[in-house]
Amino acid sequence: MTTVGSTGASTYEAVNIFFDRAADRLKLDDGERELLRRPWRELQVAVPVRMDDGRIEVFTGYRVQHNGARGPYKGGVRYHPLADREEVKALASLMTWKTALVDIPFGGAKGGVQCDPHLLSEGELNRLTRRYTANIEHLLAVNRDILAPDLGTNAQTMVWMMDEYGRIHGHTPGIVTGKPIELGGSAGREAATGRGVVTVVAEVAKDAGIDLKGGGVIVQGFGNVGSWTARIADEMGCNVVGVSDIQGGSYRSDGIDMKQLLRHKDETGTVTGLPGADSVSNEELLEQPCDFLIPAAIDGVIHAENAPRIKAKMVIEAANHPVIPEADRILNDRGIKILPDILVNAGGVIVSYFEWSQNLYQAHWKEDRVTTELKKIMTRAYRKVSETAEREAITYRDAAFLIGVGSVAHVARMRGFI
Ligand code: GLU
Repeated sequence: MTTVGSTGASTYEAVNIFFDRAADRLKLDDGERELLRRPWRELQVAVPVRMDDGRIEVFTGYRVQHNGARGPYKGGVRYHPLADREEVKALASLMTWKTALVDIPFGGAKGGVQCDPHLLSEGELNRLTRRYTANIEHLLAVNRDILAPDLGTNAQTMVWMMDEYGRIHGHTPGIVTGKPIELGGSAGREAATGRGVVTVVAEVAKDAGIDLKGGGVIVQGFGNVGSWTARIADEMGCNVVGVSDIQGGSYRSDGIDMKQLLRHKDETGTVTGLPGADSVSNEELLEQPCDFLIPAAIDGVIHAENAPRIKAKMVIEAANHPVIPEADRILNDRGIKILPDILVNAGGVIVSYFEWSQNLYQAHWKEDRVTTELKKIMTRAYRKVSETAEREAITYRDAAFLIGVGSVAHVARMRGFI
């Protein structure tokens, strides 16, 4: 079981601390709470893969459909050594609150295969993806459950999933989102989460009177979300002062030259060791001074031990669940505001919604349209969160959960589940 922080709570229990606070405020009774907290369906599958050396290795895969009150289940599939049942359940529940908060017509789901994709060849990944898809296929449909990329998966993984699903059901592009554009993907999907993150940074900076060119932005993680966040933040005139990837980070208090950084990354394969910048570890990077600290890698990176040393004015959660509840409390007590994951990283699933709709009616939107509509939804959701936080005198996270959980509870009652 994945545990985070000194409490030893699983990620699922940790996320439910936030859920429970919303349920208390909404005065949900015990039965309603249980209905909304518990995943509606959990599937565990064995995923046997013929490895390149001839051996068979059997991986474990999951698909958790957390809540379908608001529409078809929607959520990514993660390939990661820590993607166990509790982790996938937690991430599935975050999808439920996320899609409800930004008001797109989906429920929440998540999938995972417990593996280290960096240790697998292209052929092994292809075979693993096809077997996983074939083994969960009976739970999927364009109006039932739709897959997407997450940590360790990408557009190529989505093509293999679509292809495998299509062998059984016929060509069905809408069964996965995050596909390459040539195969039914949407313009702007790859950059979508990063663009959404930067939209939230710009809005909250305006409200808080923080100059984007001032104390700067630190982005931890340089995968899909982190790298697009850093690039788009730079394009929008933010002063990006720190970045990192698995190998370590680079920090420069008067700003990193993004072109130089991208060249360096191309040449060396990493963002650490950038000439003219200080090389720092991932842990050190999180503790450097900045206005906006953006964890964009994995969960649990800000915990009780390092939370007292965070020097940012605000934490912007681009990753899912990067701040554990104990650290959440410490940062709140220290007056460091946290913009929560279910708001900040919703750009990915919002453009997935655009992609899915385009697939259903065989349309192609231009990138401008995607960007405009994405910004509209992100800004509306941010406004709702900040107004609710102010009106109820609660944190942004509590406000986001209040809106998300409240909306699912409302719809569940209308449908007669409760
Ligand atoms: N994996 C992304 C997330 O956590 C995107 C999910 C999707 O597009 O369905 O939000």
